[in-house]
Amino acid sequence: MPHFSSRIAATASAASSLAVAAALLVPPVTSAASAAPSASDERARPTAKIPTAVGTGGAISTVDPEASAAGLKVLRQGGNAVDAAVAAAATLGVTEPYSAGIGGGGYFVYYNARTGKVRTIDGRETAPATMPTDAFIDPATGKPWNFTPELVTSGVSVGTPGTPATWDRALDRWGTLTLDEALRPAIKVATRGFEVDETFRQQTLDNEIRFRAFKATRKLFLPGGDAPQVGSVFKNPQLARTYTRLGQQGLPYFYRGKLAALMVDVVRHPRTTSTTKLPVPPGHLSRKDLRTYSVKDQRPTKISYRGHDIYGMAPSSSGGTTVGEALNILERYPLGTLGTTSALHHYLEASALAFADRGKYVGDPAFVDVPTKQLLDDTYAAERACAINPAKAMPKPTAAGDVTSYDGVCAPATTKGAVDADTENISTTNLTVADKWGNVVEYTLTIEQTGGSGQVVPRHGFLLNNELTDFSTVYDAADPNRIQPGKRPRSSMSPTIVLKDGKPFLALGSPGGSTIITTVLQMVMNRIDLGMSIEEAIAAPRATQRNGVNTTAEPAFISAYGPALSALGHTLVPAGDAFTSAAEIGAATAIEFGPGGLMTAVAEPTRRGGGAARVVDRQ
Ligand code: GLU
Repeated sequence: MPHFSSRIAATASAASSLAVAAALLVPPVTSAASAAPSASDERARPTAKIPTAVGTGGAISTVDPEASAAGLKVLRQGGNAVDAAVAAAATLGVTEPYSAGIGGGGYFVYYNARTGKVRTIDGRETAPATMPTDAFIDPATGKPWNFTPELVTSGVSVGTPGTPATWDRALDRWGTLTLDEALRPAIKVATRGFEVDETFRQQTLDNEIRFRAFKATRKLFLPGGDAPQVGSVFKNPQLARTYTRLGQQGLPYFYRGKLAALMVDVVRHPRTTSTTKLPVPPGHLSRKDLRTYSVKDQRPTKISYRGHDIYGMAPSSSGGTTVGEALNILERYPLGTLGTTSALHHYLEASALAFADRGKYVGDPAFVDVPTKQLLDDTYAAERACAINPAKAMPKPTAAGDVTSYDGVCAPATTKGAVDADTENISTTNLTVADKWGNVVEYTLTIEQTGGSGQVVPRHGFLLNNELTDFSTVYDAADPNRIQPGKRPRSSMSPTIVLKDGKPFLALGSPGGSTIITTVLQMVMNRIDLGMSIEEAIAAPRATQRNGVNTTAEPAFISAYGPALSALGHTLVPAGDAFTSAAEIGAATAIEFGPGGLMTAVAEPTRRGGGAARVVDRQ
């Protein structure tokens, strides 16, 4: 049964008197993008990129000033971290529509200050019940569709969205606002518009061919035939209306009514333009898939690392097991005293080992038997750590370990392994929120590729995901991430909460496909082992080793550490690909907790144009 909150038409609750309700919308406007705002408008649009904010009373960090401002307002008006997280996430659906929104899914991790427990919601998109296992094979050629842009830009890649149900479930379980109330700040931003920055324009241009393939997408995101200009104001009255109805009618509006029927029709009969050369394979989504979708309340993964308890997202995400296993391996070595080159060498090697296991063992636990306990076992990590030679990088890809038989004793290493094709792109968005009561949310949400499937739902102002391309493209019965109807594709999203002595110490997460795992891992190492402050830990140049022959790295990382790591046998290549303009890895957010309720919220200083950290009471 789908989870439909009983609070859909909630009567006035204590929280509903929050002034946030006063933010309710203004009427629709006519065009998507309009001229630059007047001076008074300008003041209403938060645009400041603030990478660090220190203070008390609550904190938030997102990639976007509007979203951080929306969450901060909720915190200031007495909402808790969950309320603020949903308000900020909904706002990101407006201002970062190519990364996240109600057409996608995500993972929500929550530390409850009252119980001291960490709990999670798996809001992952799900394969339609009739999705065939050869769905990604082009019937005309018998070969897989070309991944980007062909397969990604399709109906066949669209999974049943989980984000509206995640918001509803999080509010129902832990929040104080109704969905209607939590959506109001985002409705306001969608109605009055936000200022287009270079990232938004560039992401639009990067997607131009895909966006031109669909009538509704072209109309919304290429108004007048071009990507919105930097400095212009982008309004999305259709999305404002969709959010308003979702708030008023609750989940049935999205999962059961006319909108559900429209989504099904669009996925099965993509509404392409006559000029597109893209094949746009149709998909399998049905009204029943939407009607029966439900999020999963999940226990988090948990490991201990140098006196900290690290909680992550359990499968269907590979985030918790892969970050956790790599940290367990790294804990065998005194990284803080090894020197930077050696510490980074161990980081890359531990990551390769954990990724080898991710490929062999991790998929949706509703369909495959995932050995989560073994992967996070310290004895298993001790045995995996044997493969690391401090003086020489192991040949890659390296083989997965044997979770059925281990004793922590070093045996001759087997190094022949398979590498998963890494088709994930730099997309997605992440947010971190804490409130004055000490509750913490770490939430990563996505529509998969930047621009998702490329398909805007006509008249509704949001993009549908292409999350199903996170399945392996070619069916292999031994692959835990093979396509199966009704299954959730394996994710890399790694929203992580770190406790020390039972209290929050750090919360962090990032977008970036499978590089999410290494970004979180590297930041934890930077902060806990390498003596960096959290500001330094987020800004430090990144490298990502995912059991491939090459280690992908940011140019600044290659300049700083390339020669020394190459001497150990690593092959470093610059990040970035033909489809994204940025040579960067991730776009993290984090909050660190200090004594006396002090919070240090951090966002990226420069990646993805820089993020926005805010606190309720600045120090
Ligand atoms: N689809 C990816 C995942 O679930 C996230 C996409 C991204 O961050 O680029 O792991």
